[in-house]
Parts: sequence; C-alpha cells; structure tokens
Amino acid sequence: MTTPLNTPPSSSAITQDLADRISRAHGVMFDIDGCLLLADQPGGYGGTLLPGAAQALKAVGATRRRFVCFTNGSFQTPSAIAGTLRELGLEVTDEQVMTPAVVAAETIARRYPGGRVLAFGGPGVIETFTTHGVELVAVEEAIAGRAGDVAAVVIGWDTEFGRSKIVAAAEAVLAGATLYATSDAPTFASHHRLNVGVSGFIAAGLSHVTGHPYRVLGKPSAEAFEAICARTGATAEELLIVGDDLQLETSMAVRHGATAVLMTTGTHSRQEAEHANPERRPDLILDSLDELAHLLRAGTTPSRTENS
Ligand SMILES: [Mg+2]
Repeated sequence: MTTPLNTPPSSSAITQDLADRISRAHGVMFDIDGCLLLADQPGGYGGTLLPGAAQALKAVGATRRRFVCFTNGSFQTPSAIAGTLRELGLEVTDEQVMTPAVVAAETIARRYPGGRVLAFGGPGVIETFTTHGVELVAVEEAIAGRAGDVAAVVIGWDTEFGRSKIVAAAEAVLAGATLYATSDAPTFASHHRLNVGVSGFIAAGLSHVTGHPYRVLGKPSAEAFEAICARTGATAEELLIVGDDLQLETSMAVRHGATAVLMTTGTHSRQEAEHANPERRPDLILDSLDELAHLLRAGTTPSRTENS
C-alpha cells in the first residue's frame, strides 16, 4: 500500500521509517482533553474515557517506556487531576501529570531566582508555585497598590478576573514584570458545551492594555517541551507527542523534532490534519488509542533498560 506524498498516514498505511521511530520512542506525552477523555471542564472532572485510553497507557508501561499526561488546563493541581484520572480507571501517578503551572513554576524559579511573582489562578497555579518555593505577591496587596518589586506576572485559570485585578497586573507589567500565560488555547475539546480557555483571554487583554506581549508556558512552548523531555527522560527524537490539537501538541512536536500523533477524537479532524501546513502536520493520524497501543506493542522494546 502506498501513501500519497505529504499526506500523514493512518496506522494501516504506516511507513517503515515511522514504525521504526515509534518503536525507538522512549517517552510518550498524552494530552488529556480530547485524547484520553472528553469532559466539559478541563482536567477530566465528570468526564468519560475515550476508547483505548487505559490500554494505551498500559502498553507504554508494558514496553518499558515512560509517559506523562499533560493538560493545558491549570485550574487544578496535578495530584487532583491524577486523582480524577485514576477514578476514571487510568493507571496514573501524581508525578505523571503535568500542567502549564508546573512548567511555569520550574521556569520562573530558574529564570528569576529569588524573584517575586504575581500569579492569578486557582489552586493549580497557587499551590504549584508554593510547592516549588516561588515567592508569591499577595493579590490583595497588589490590588491595594502595594505589590513592590514583581519579576513576573503569571495568568492562569482565574474566572474572577475583574477590573481591580486588571489594574494590579497591568501596573506590575508596566513597572517591568514579564507577562506570562499558562495557556492561550481558545477552547478545549469537550462533551457538550463550548469549553473556553480563560488564561489566554486575560493575557491578550492585558497585552492590549499594557502594550507588552505575553509569553505562553504551556503547550506548545519550548519550555513545556523541555519539561516533558526531562520528565520522561527522552530526547526530542525519542518522544511521541499524542494529542487532538494541531496548534498545541502537533506544532510543538514538529517544531522540536518529536514524532506527532494526531487523535481525531477531539478538536481537529482527519481532514484538517491532512490539509494542515507543514509546521502543524502530524506524522500519524489515528482514530483510536487502541491503534496506538497496538503500534507500541508491535515494535521492538527500546534497548535502553533503566526504568526509574
Ligand atoms: Mg486536547
């Protein structure tokens, strides 16, 4: 069977080169919403597993590979998300769940040692920064005009972001703080209702108000990609990135030299993937994680043997 040039294959038309790349993969990143499950809130709460999700995670472990589950939702802590995934029947540890807040906390601790951060968001942002030892400016103090020196402003999932917070955040940015967003995904894949992104909406507004650009630390950023490599122990060439969004997971994989698998169970369709620009065109399009599980088990187990 031949595959038309420039058209990403399905598993039935997989090339030997692609099969080799999959079999050499040491690490796998699974997106959560639209890839492992569908829910109406990011992070899986109240959601339904997609077919093959549990089997795909099992196949990774059985072939001595490592995986992480990375959502661009930042409202909940990784341990809370991991708890939800376990309740749904997935074998996932707290350490195997990553959010943009984890990347943000690691990046800011490294980039601004001792710097103070004005962060907006739920427990997923606030608790994650605290556990990483990042000093937070009290939002109430910033609203009262007493923020002091702020190295960075981080916008997470804050559904209570009104005018007083706009003023506090904008003052810090205009005084020199760098503006970061956990994610600027417009929407997440969902069951019934439109599942809109909040942090990108706020960050774009603050950028409008201040005239300063914002940087994203979730997918598809370089910071997120490096954090995934570090967590899985894989190099870019040894990493499979599995997700349902061409702009988030696929573009991140293509830009950094990882293998991109687009699942058609969420945001983007097979037709959209086949017609995507090269910078967001996946290496493989799959309709079910059962197919991925099969491919992972079919290849030879990676030669590297450490499993810690
Ligand atoms: Mg998704």
